[in-house]
Amino acid sequence: MTEMIHRANTRPVKVGNLTIGGSNELFIQSMTTTKTHDVEATVAEINRLEEAGCQIVRVACPDERAAYSIGEIKKRINIPLVVDIHFDYKLALIAIEQGADKIRINPGNIGRQSKVEAVVNAAKAKGIPIRIGVNAGSLEKKILEKYGYPTAEGMVESALHHIKILEDLDFHDIIVSLKASDVNLAIEAYKLAAAAFDYPLHLGITESGTLFAGSIKSAAGLGTLLSAGIGNTMRVSLSADPVQEIKVARELLKVFGLSSNAATLISCPTCGRIEIDLISIANEVEEYISTIKAPLKVAVLGCAVNGPGEAREADIGIAGARGEGLLFMHGKTVRKVPEETMVDELKKEIDILAEEYFEK
Ligand code: SF4
Repeated sequence: MTEMIHRANTRPVKVGNLTIGGSNELFIQSMTTTKTHDVEATVAEINRLEEAGCQIVRVACPDERAAYSIGEIKKRINIPLVVDIHFDYKLALIAIEQGADKIRINPGNIGRQSKVEAVVNAAKAKGIPIRIGVNAGSLEKKILEKYGYPTAEGMVESALHHIKILEDLDFHDIIVSLKASDVNLAIEAYKLAAAAFDYPLHLGITESGTLFAGSIKSAAGLGTLLSAGIGNTMRVSLSADPVQEIKVARELLKVFGLSSNAATLISCPTCGRIEIDLISIANEVEEYISTIKAPLKVAVLGCAVNGPGEAREADIGIAGARGEGLLFMHGKTVRKVPEETMVDELKKEIDILAEEYFEK
C-alpha cells in the first residue's frame, strides 16, 4: 500500500467521535438532500450514506422546524452530524442545544457581537467546532471591492476575517472550507490557506455538476490538493444521489493511498487478445468489492498473455484463458478455474484474504 500523505501540522479538532486534522486520516463527508424536518427521510438517507462509507454528514438548517429535528435525527444515526446555518444565530443555538456535532456558520455573518458571543459560548460549552465556509460566489462586498472579483487571496482574507472573530473570543475549534466552482481558483485558495493557518481544511469543489462531469472536475481539483497533502475532510459535490458522492470520494482517496478500508479493482482496457467477457466481469467484481473493508487490490484481466504479470501488484486476480480462467496472486498463477465459476472462485478468495487481513 502507498504511504498516506498528510498536511502534518493541522490542529486536531473533535467532531463527534472523530478527530479531524492532526495525524488522522482524511474523512469523507456528504450532505443530505432531504428536507431536514422530515426526520424519517433524512435518517434513511444518512443511513444509506453511512453504509456507502460516509463518515460525517451535514444537513441544511433553514428554519426552526429543521433545527428542532436535530435531536431526533442524532438519536437515530451513528456518524457525526454537522448542521449548516447561514445567518440566524437562533437556529445555531437551537442546533447546538439539540446536539449538533459541528455547526457551519460564518461568524462575520451573524451580526451583533452579542449574538456571535452567544453562539461561540454555546459551542464552547458543548465542545463542538465551528466550520467557516468561504465560498467564492459569496465573498464579502469589502473584499470583492478590494480585489475586483473573487480571487484566492480574497477568499483566504475572508477566512482569516472570520477566524479572527472566533480567535478573539478564545475559540479555536475551527475548520475551514474555501469552495469555488472554478477548479483553479479553489486549488489556489486551499494552497494559500494551508500556508496561512493550521486549522483543518474541509475540501470541496462546489457546484461541480452531474455525476460524470462533476466527478471528473472534483477529481481534478481535489486530487491536486490531495497529492499536495492538503485536506482533512472532503466532500465531492454532485447533482446526483449523494451516495454517488461517497463512491467518488472513496475512489479518489484510494488513488492517493489515503484509504485504509477499501479494496481497489485493477482491470485491463481489453484488446484483441481478450478471452472472456471482461467488462461485465469487471463491473460485477467492482460491485462485490465495494463492501470489502480491507485494502486489497483485485485484478480482472482479459487474457493470460500479459495478464498476471501486468497486475503483479494485485493481491488476487483472474485472467481469462481459452474456456477457463487463471486465478493468480501477486503475479503468479495459483490454479486454473472453469470459466463458469471463475468469478465465484475469485469472490471466495477475496473473502478469505479480507478475513486474513482483519485477523492480522
Ligand atoms: Fe489485452 Fe490481455 Fe492486456 Fe487485457 S490483459 S489488455 S486482453 S493483452
